[in-house]
Amino acid sequence: MARISAYHRPVLGRTIVDFSLSDEEKAVRETARTFIRKEVMPLEQEVLRRERAHEHGLRLDELRELQTKARAFGFWGLATPEEYGGMDLPAVMQSLIWTEIGRSWVPFRFGGEADNILFFANDEQKAEFLRPTIEGDRISCFAITEPGAGSDAANIRMTARRDGDDWILDGEKTFITNGNDADFAIVVAVSDRDQDVRAGGSTAFLVDRSMGWRSEFIQTMGEGGPASLVFDSVRVPGRNVLGEVGQGFALGMQWIGKGRYIIPSHAVGVAERALRMAIDHANTRETFGKPLATNQAIQWMIADSETELEAARWLILRAAWTVDQGADARHASSMSKLYGARMVNDVVDRVLQIHGGMGYTRELPIERWYRQMRLLRIFEGTDEMQRLIISRDLLRGFTEIGGHLA
Ligand SMILES: Cc1cc2nc3c(=O)[nH]c(=O)nc-3n(C[C@H](O)[C@H](O)[C@H](O)COP(=O)(O)OP(=O)(O)OC[C@H]3O[C@@H](n4cnc5c(N)ncnc54)[C@H](O)[C@@H]3O)c2cc1C
Repeated sequence: MARISAYHRPVLGRTIVDFSLSDEEKAVRETARTFIRKEVMPLEQEVLRRERAHEHGLRLDELRELQTKARAFGFWGLATPEEYGGMDLPAVMQSLIWTEIGRSWVPFRFGGEADNILFFANDEQKAEFLRPTIEGDRISCFAITEPGAGSDAANIRMTARRDGDDWILDGEKTFITNGNDADFAIVVAVSDRDQDVRAGGSTAFLVDRSMGWRSEFIQTMGEGGPASLVFDSVRVPGRNVLGEVGQGFALGMQWIGKGRYIIPSHAVGVAERALRMAIDHANTRETFGKPLATNQAIQWMIADSETELEAARWLILRAAWTVDQGADARHASSMSKLYGARMVNDVVDRVLQIHGGMGYTRELPIERWYRQMRLLRIFEGTDEMQRLIISRDLLRGFTEIGGHLA
């Protein structure tokens, strides 16, 4: 466990704040780093080549093969409880591992994971949806966003109407990650128009593609892309309600909450790798007869990037540490998502600038990061929604300024 900020240990009769990682954390991080260096990074140039040819950088079967190798290495189900074969790692360790993943632009992630809310499934649903998802035999997607409801997720309009023991779903979801590949969708729909969506009016359903929904790929500025899901009187058996009827919005918010420290953890790895490239380039590229690195303009870009990276790193680790304490991590997680997403965009922008024209080419991964990282300021709560949460906590007195140190 990281002993960040709130952990104090006595040294020579004084109490100090200990920012060090534990030996166990360092060992797990090192093992993940080794795996990614040996097995994932060698694929990097091929990923760029394929993407330039408008192909998938990494095919699904290749991803699964890598995940199986990682399983033999001991990495399987970072967040998955041990009873389902996972590692059930503390949030701080998960954060550290996601940073390692972020160092490579190969679209890799460790296997053995499932959407956190799938663990609310009952025993039959676990056998049908959760376990096959963990094993990688089925692909899920989570769908709350609609054409008329993104940031304002409580404005969803998809209807779920009872018909005997079944429910009939009508409406459209949009921007759904994995929507084109998924075997089933976890869909939040309005199940009682007379109640507030946030308080009993919505329900989550597990809906197989074979029940009749269809997906349409959406081209985006990033590699890969989400999909729209169209539900035209899709009949869903009552046994496919996830959790309780009326619990849909709460489950949705729980799904989104998980990403708020994972997303910026990944971003830290991206920013670290990109900054390393900029430093190497600045030291070797010469203009006007001397290395780029001798110019103050370049030095400041490097200094600002390192400073912002360090700030993001600690915001994220503290958010993850708050999760591990079993405390309410929403405020800390929103700050880490807001800052981490901004940070990586600013760092990649500077790294691109330092590389000049080469940074703009598709020979290097920088323009790819530039496109890909822009998403981080939009999905799973935009910058503005994070600001809304942070300021609301302060304005309504839910959180004290710097309250955790008081
Ligand atoms: C690639 C991608 C993958 C995604 N994956 C998923 C997924 O798997 N599942 C899913 O359900 N959704 C997914 N989303 C949807 C994503 O969560 C939404 O796009 C996001 O929540 C923003 O909603 P919106 O696009 O409707 O923008 P809007 O809500 O229309 O907002 C537009 C802009 O206005 C700002 N804004 C809105 N309201 C306010 C306000 N009150 N004050 C200040 N500013 C405001 C927003 O911050 C934003 O900048 C994905 C989106 C993308 C692009």
